[in-house]
Amino acid sequence: YRALAMEIEEKPDITFDKIGGLDKQIKEVKEVVELPLTHPELFEKVGIEPPKGVLLYGPPGTGKTLLAKAVANETNASFIKLVGSELVKKFIGEGAKLVKDVFKLARENAPTIIFIDEIDAVASKRTESLTGGDREVQRTLMQLLAEMDGFESKGDVKIIGATNRPDILDTAILRPGRFDRIIEVPAPTADGIVDILKIHTKNMNLKGVDLEKVAEHAEGCVGADLKAVCTEAGMLAIRDRREFVTMDDFLSAIEKLTGEKEEEYAFKE
Ligand code: ATP
Repeated sequence: YRALAMEIEEKPDITFDKIGGLDKQIKEVKEVVELPLTHPELFEKVGIEPPKGVLLYGPPGTGKTLLAKAVANETNASFIKLVGSELVKKFIGEGAKLVKDVFKLARENAPTIIFIDEIDAVASKRTESLTGGDREVQRTLMQLLAEMDGFESKGDVKIIGATNRPDILDTAILRPGRFDRIIEVPAPTADGIVDILKIHTKNMNLKGVDLEKVAEHAEGCVGADLKAVCTEAGMLAIRDRREFVTMDDFLSAIEKLTGEKEEEYAFKE
């Protein structure tokens, strides 16, 4: 049952060339996570401590998980993923222990990238008095901080946290020696959208499709949306018993998916 809150992959198959529109972020992640793993001597010679952890923040579906997986791939590291919200929901009384077990597992399988998605769920600042459940969350956070403080920054375990809500984070996790580097992973620009579309259509049989035009219609979409658009466009071709995908398929797919999104929002209000 623990497998639900934790996921381990020996070496994820995501590479940096499958990530679109995030060149600056890739460069930064390589410098703060990859370089200390592959060339620890550079830090030793200069006499500085490499960061232990980096925090990625930005809207859902922009590629934070992809970045973390690509680093693990590039450094031949194991990849362990924890999801903050799952950690506190399903495992009352178990969160702290799970954190402890994960760090142990990470050390045993090093080099390891520990990816903690939705870290705000365990590390948000609390304003009201602590209820029983909150105290449990607090205990999980304390364990996380203790584990981070307890390992060497020169070592071969690195932590990547991700959140959509950097504003609610407890500043304790941002202190030096913890998540002391913060990288924004924003929604893609117009050029970024074209890059991402190129990646997701690489193996598609396109006929007369102008991706720049598709991108103009897909303004406001993030990477996860764009992937869904490509899949939906392909489905429309299949439904028509065609072996190629047209511009119309893409436009219909965008219309359908952005329409669904708006319905979802209207529903929530
Ligand atoms: P969340 O915060 O919701 O976990 P995330 O930022 O971690 O989201 P990912 O899980 O990395 O988002 O992205 C989901 C999927 O969307 C990816 O598997 C990929 O197919 C696609 N995707 C997202 N961003 C990009 C991108 N920049 N380039 C290419 N594909 C992307």
